[in-house]
Amino acid sequence: MHIFSSLSNLWNTVEESALLSVRFFLFAGSIFLFFYVWKKHKYWYLKIQQRLPDKKHIYREIRYSFYTVFIFGIVIVQVMWASKNRWTLIYYPIDKYGWPYYFFSILLMIFVHDTYFYWTHRLLHWKPLYKTVHVVHHRSINPTPFSAYAFHPVEALVEIGIIPLIVFTIPYHVTALYFFSAYTLLMNIFGHMGYEFFPKGFASNRFLKWHNTATNHNMHHRFVKCNFGLYFNIWDRLMKTNHPKYEEIYEEVIAQRKLPKISELNAAPPVVEDKLATAKELSD
Ligand SMILES: [Zn+2]
Ligand SMILES: [Zn+2]
Repeated sequence: MHIFSSLSNLWNTVEESALLSVRFFLFAGSIFLFFYVWKKHKYWYLKIQQRLPDKKHIYREIRYSFYTVFIFGIVIVQVMWASKNRWTLIYYPIDKYGWPYYFFSILLMIFVHDTYFYWTHRLLHWKPLYKTVHVVHHRSINPTPFSAYAFHPVEALVEIGIIPLIVFTIPYHVTALYFFSAYTLLMNIFGHMGYEFFPKGFASNRFLKWHNTATNHNMHHRFVKCNFGLYFNIWDRLMKTNHPKYEEIYEEVIAQRKLPKISELNAAPPVVEDKLATAKELSD
């Protein structure tokens, strides 16, 4: 009996991991094909770092993404099992807490995750952990959509750790969790895809600056010791961990858009000056 339950657990894990890979690779893959292959020249002016990453980095990111979805699968299957046994606070009838709570719970989840991510990320930058674990994610100096899941397995465990943390402490409707996981994936890929879509002045606007930008996380990959946030730029501002030239570099990225477009130049590979390279890197 024990063997059968272990086998069924293993099968569920494989199934869940396969579903997660399909979701991730369909999403990240189509964004990659669109922006890095098909419309590469057309939208090049929106590219934050005006150069392409080496192919070997893209293969490495894809390889690590497979480990990540497997780890995510293991944890999610355990959470589903705990939920079946009514050990979590996941609930099913919406009326149990009503619609206002439903929407509030999604917002709460996003803010809790933002805080969880910022502080676990700071911890991962602690030298012994950085050198052994987090460095895998940082090998992508010029990130692509596939960098979103390119983690060391230990980091994958830390990242998915938000799910058990919230389902054992806060009541969530099951669909609110689906919504949250789709939002997380979307924002994660958006932060890694290497393109900036936000308008001029976003990073310094009185209200909008509290939301993160793709440039912010792109700079984290480039300069390493700054810009640790996920959805918002709240903790980085409070803890003064934004790159000192974040807002300035954001505007430089926006200014790049005015340079002649590759499609108009009729030119081969882009030879636009790499603006970010001129920014002074943070020293030890
Ligand atoms: Zn980092
Ligand atoms: Zn990253």
